[in-house]
Amino acid sequence: MKLRTLAFLFLFSLHAAAFADDEHGWGARYLANAGVMIEQGETKVLFDPFFRDGFGFYDLVPEETESALFDGVAPWDGIDAIFISHYHGDHFHPGVVTDYLRRWPSVHAYAPQQAVDALLAEVNEPSEELLARIHAIDLERDSEALEFELEGLFIEAVRIAHAGWPNRHSDTENIVYRVTLDDSATVMHLGDADSGKEHYEVHDEYWQKQKSDLALVPVWLMLSEKGQHVIDEHVDAEHEIGMHVFKSIPDNPEEREPKFEGLDIFTEPGETRSFEQ
Ligand SMILES: [Zn+2]
Repeated sequence: MKLRTLAFLFLFSLHAAAFADDEHGWGARYLANAGVMIEQGETKVLFDPFFRDGFGFYDLVPEETESALFDGVAPWDGIDAIFISHYHGDHFHPGVVTDYLRRWPSVHAYAPQQAVDALLAEVNEPSEELLARIHAIDLERDSEALEFELEGLFIEAVRIAHAGWPNRHSDTENIVYRVTLDDSATVMHLGDADSGKEHYEVHDEYWQKQKSDLALVPVWLMLSEKGQHVIDEHVDAEHEIGMHVFKSIPDNPEEREPKFEGLDIFTEPGETRSFEQ
């Protein structure tokens, strides 16, 4: 783990580099909370980009960033697909997602059935064209992974229990995506996944089939022994970035509590990480 962290530090970049300018690079750009854009050349995807609730604890996407997404202003242009982890107000707003999909008829959306139901409730008589771009993921927790293909993207999805299992949110369909961009960068986004290893063990074949270059994990996995076990033994990505971090956590790593030492976390909307292929 330590070695990986060290290797990564050399690639760490705080300035808003245009990954597309570097033919060997790809990167992640932080929106807020669990919202992240991944860019690999011309291929771009968004995870949990449009939401309205921070519940007082979490950053919201800056208004100018959301406007740039809607207006297609670089680097927030040319989005191929958006992925919704689950239908909670700090990850997903059905009205905003619907508006975005109507604004950009080239964008596909992948979302759990619960979120798709909410999306369709926003739309009066949705067109065939819109329906064809909304992909509902209807999974039980122990179902095998679903696979989708879109130009430049290979998409896999499993359902992993929401944090708080089994007492809270046990009916919430939380989807973990593994997305490969242009056959090169593979990124996993865990939404609000729980830290119990029992949720991951049933999908061992899924985790082992394809190693992820990057996993975007809710920070609570990083901060507990149980969660760290899941990250090391099941998720097993080349690098992890913690997301869903309280906005009270300082942007400057040196000002953070000791428990964050050595952890790579997203805290400041707009910050980036770049990686080499
Ligand atoms: Zn949630």
